[in-house]
Amino acid sequence: TFELLGSDFFGYENLLTEPEQAAIIKLRAYLEKEVRPIANGCWDRAEFPTQVIKPLAELGMYSFGWESTKPFENSAVFRGFVALELARVDASVATFVGVQNGLAAGTLEACGSDEQRAEWIPRLASGEIVGAFGLTEPLSGSDAAQGLRTTATRNGDSWTLNGAKRWIGNATFSDVTIIWAKDTADNQVKGFIVPTDTAGYTATKIEGKISLRAVQNADIVLTDVIVPESLRLQNANSFKDTAKVLRATRAEVSWAAVGNAIGAYDAAVAYAHERVQFGKAIGGHQLVQDLLVKSLGNITASLGMVVRVSQLQDQGVQRDEHSALTKAYTTSRMRETVAWCRELFGGNGVTLEYNVARHFADAEAIYSYEGTQEMNTLIVGRIITGQAAFV
Ligand code: FAD
Repeated sequence: TFELLGSDFFGYENLLTEPEQAAIIKLRAYLEKEVRPIANGCWDRAEFPTQVIKPLAELGMYSFGWESTKPFENSAVFRGFVALELARVDASVATFVGVQNGLAAGTLEACGSDEQRAEWIPRLASGEIVGAFGLTEPLSGSDAAQGLRTTATRNGDSWTLNGAKRWIGNATFSDVTIIWAKDTADNQVKGFIVPTDTAGYTATKIEGKISLRAVQNADIVLTDVIVPESLRLQNANSFKDTAKVLRATRAEVSWAAVGNAIGAYDAAVAYAHERVQFGKAIGGHQLVQDLLVKSLGNITASLGMVVRVSQLQDQGVQRDEHSALTKAYTTSRMRETVAWCRELFGGNGVTLEYNVARHFADAEAIYSYEGTQEMNTLIVGRIITGQAAFV
């Protein structure tokens, strides 16, 4: 069993089965040994540590949840703790895994035919290929359900894709990118498995980010990209099918938000013990304790929420609104928490060296991606009032 009264104050990790706990301990050891020492440097240089891709595959990070590949019966609660553990050390690596496992393999699981699942998921799971998920566009983000401009036109047994995508994670080096586009015949959103060496496909790195700098995000241009009908996701017939994927990934992003907050909190607790001002460790000053206790309160409340949303997923009753409320709430609490933890470091809190600034900066992208705070709020507002305020 896990140690209580740390950042998991109420001991939620004890809900995990023994094999799940063992997998978390193994992952934690790998991350501390191999990822933590390089995380700040990769962030500073805006480089993704590609050397972690294969070892993370060996730890089963891209195999969770898929019938064909799962290493053992694992729950959504377990997959959540995996996302938490990754983000606690490096939210960029957590985002890489979220795209590879949740968005790329997750789309194939939810929207692919049996043949498509059998062909692509094992290759993603083993880390042989890297996947990406292209929904957002330069002119369409929050309104993706209505506003996509990328088109897909059928000509016999093939489709021609034209348009542009923006912010696509892993896409500077992905082997395959899921592209969401509007069918020019019926105006519905459909999904396509696009190998990135297809003629007419280009991906260019987005430079100058201040958040999740190690994640490689790309602008993609699609100019008369031709893909066969066999690469159209056979069970993606409208945006409702895209939303099924996002329902699961938004819950996992919420877990990563809790992990990112815990990373900052762990560093703040250690610093409160070490740093001496006015003749005593700063943890002995009342207002410093207040920062720590408010942070722990946010983390503990958020953990309760992510555990419950994943239990609902395990029971098969999770709704879009459950994920939306969880994402809006936990990312807001994360943003407060990382700011309080950074504050506790004074000046040292603005340098990478003290292991809090990265969590502070990474919170911004986590807060905005996979549906902004506003959009997730409006999804919940619609179910409360019966009125959609965003169409
Ligand atoms: P906009 O939609 O332009 O919104 C701008 C602001 O207006 C926001 O505050 C928004 O909440 C607000 N707003 C918009 N409409 C309303 C409304 N009706 N009412 C109230 N407020 C409103 N996308 C992918 O497809 N694949 C990826 O892998 C991916 N990875 C990402 C990684 C990073 C680091 C980042 C930053 C983004 C990533 N995204 C990805 C895109 C991300 O999902 C979008 O940025 C996000 O959905 C918001 O869209 P937008 O940036 O176009 O903002």
